[in-house]
Amino acid sequence: MDAYDLVQLSTGEMLRQETKLKSKLGDEAKVLMDAGKLVPDDLIIAMISGRIDDTKGAGVILDGFPRTTAQAEVLDQMLVDKGMQLDRVIQIEIPEPEVIARLTGRFSCAKCGTGYHEVFNKPKVAEICDKCGSKEFVRRSDDNVETARSRLRAYHEQTAPILPYYEAAGRLSTVDGMGGVDQVFARIKEIVEGA
Ligand code: AMP
Repeated sequence: MDAYDLVQLSTGEMLRQETKLKSKLGDEAKVLMDAGKLVPDDLIIAMISGRIDDTKGAGVILDGFPRTTAQAEVLDQMLVDKGMQLDRVIQIEIPEPEVIARLTGRFSCAKCGTGYHEVFNKPKVAEICDKCGSKEFVRRSDDNVETARSRLRAYHEQTAPILPYYEAAGRLSTVDGMGGVDQVFARIKEIVEGA
């Protein structure tokens, strides 16, 4: 996150890079990602641990990790071992129809990665990236209705159960995710600055 000079570590983004490289991990992950299922814990943990080490003590924002109780437990131990601490867990809440609408309408510039949405955040000039002028856009292969519904199922079954753990530790903050990017960011900012 630029505003705070944090290194953003997104496990989903790391897996998409592996998929592009056609590595063994990437090939294995792609099948699961396209089905909206979680990638096994051991693969995720091995992947993220080294990446946290690479940040060499900078502040980190973990995006999409941990997603299971086993991952949360390993993260606790990793933080102790690396002499780091968890300041806040931020849960962004939005109704499910809105989640589906956001996921299925989003796309990004193939060149610079700027994100757009076909209804909520269109490029200023149709089909041209505001930032770099490219005319090439990409969509994630898992951003379709069917896969989005399985991703939500995986969230309820495997990820939501870790929330009480962070709540009991006094680390959980819940943010209303409805509204525009600036509004939601302002809500998150309040939490980060009070952490
Ligand atoms: P995301 O980019 O966070 O939406 O993640 C995209 C997909 O990558 C998910 O639907 C999972 O298949 C996989 N994935 C990302 N992070 C994790 C994780 N922490 N544990 C298991 N699977 C993950």
